[in-house]
Amino acid sequence: MEQPFSRGFLAEAAAFSLCASPGMCVFFYIIGVLTFGIPRMCIHIREGGCLIMAKYSIHAGHNSFVPGAQGFIKEEVVNRQIKNAVINDLRAAGHTVYDDTDDQAKTQNENLAAIVRKINSHTNLSLVVSIHLNAGGGTGIEVYQPDIRTNGVAQRVLNAVCAVTGLKNRGVHTNSSLYVLRNTTAPAILVECGFVDHQSDATFVSTHTDAIGRAIAEGILGSTITSKKSRAASPKVASPKKEAAPSSVQTASLLRRGSRGSTVKVVQQNLIHAGYSVGSAGADGVFGVATEAAVRALQRDSGITVDGIVGLQTQIALSQALRGGLAVVPYPGHIIKRGSRGRDVERIQRALSLSVDGVFGPATKKAVKAYQRRHNLSVDGIVGPETWNTLF
Ligand SMILES: [Zn+2]
Repeated sequence: MEQPFSRGFLAEAAAFSLCASPGMCVFFYIIGVLTFGIPRMCIHIREGGCLIMAKYSIHAGHNSFVPGAQGFIKEEVVNRQIKNAVINDLRAAGHTVYDDTDDQAKTQNENLAAIVRKINSHTNLSLVVSIHLNAGGGTGIEVYQPDIRTNGVAQRVLNAVCAVTGLKNRGVHTNSSLYVLRNTTAPAILVECGFVDHQSDATFVSTHTDAIGRAIAEGILGSTITSKKSRAASPKVASPKKEAAPSSVQTASLLRRGSRGSTVKVVQQNLIHAGYSVGSAGADGVFGVATEAAVRALQRDSGITVDGIVGLQTQIALSQALRGGLAVVPYPGHIIKRGSRGRDVERIQRALSLSVDGVFGPATKKAVKAYQRRHNLSVDGIVGPETWNTLF
């Protein structure tokens, strides 16, 4: 292990641990260059979006004069609840966020034009996010983008919202005809957070607006948001990230067998979310045998030193696993199908938001088929390399 306070350690700390703290990533970058000659960049800078620079424009579609889609719920109302949650979370993480929602316009065209005018009055926006709900007899979540500049963030937001809602993943669509997306100069995405005319979509989405907002914000940032404010608990949400540690800065201290506390709990939640079981007790904040095994599995899958200890390398590997940016879970080398058992089956079940028992039964097969259909894979209900690599 690296010695604490060695140059390498400090550079790594600057590169990773403080990037959730606005200002610190730039501060440590400068310190790193000037003092140690090590120009390490935090994850956010490396991905092209330094935290300190980030300005976002978020708006909810439609308004009370020109309502959006109507079904079991009113689109313009729920859009605003989700929008508020996204804005709160991004601001709590230290970003500048403009609320460019329009409440005044009396026609749809005026509403759209007003939103675009507001958005384009800001300079240097990192991203514009338009919050909508769908209608028309479908189910699930989809994200639109006007061009492929936003591929990464669009996919992250989509995955995060699907994970937190368990609703169908309808994909990212590139569509240059949507008015707001087409007329904003900054990169823009539009999130359709479920169908107002699908009863279970509508019920779930309207009762989990905070969790969906959190997921969108995390997708935008590409990292887990933790905050002191605990949100209204929503019992059915399958978000391991929701009940986060009482800290907005990721710790750089080492966690190992015997460690306890909220940081351990966050790591466990993230391990579970990335498909690594931490044992039957779940994320209990106690770093025991099962958690160590999960950490070792993650390390093995990520190609880093396998020591069962969570340091910076492992934290980075874990955040990459969560973002799905790397194929950190290689294909196990054999097909997984009806009758298969074990950890790979558990992983598939988690990825498909099924109940996790490690047994590939009819429900798992059905879900795999549905997944294959959605992703234009051959629909056989068998997880071979193609389906595995799409899943992970
Ligand atoms: Zn809409």
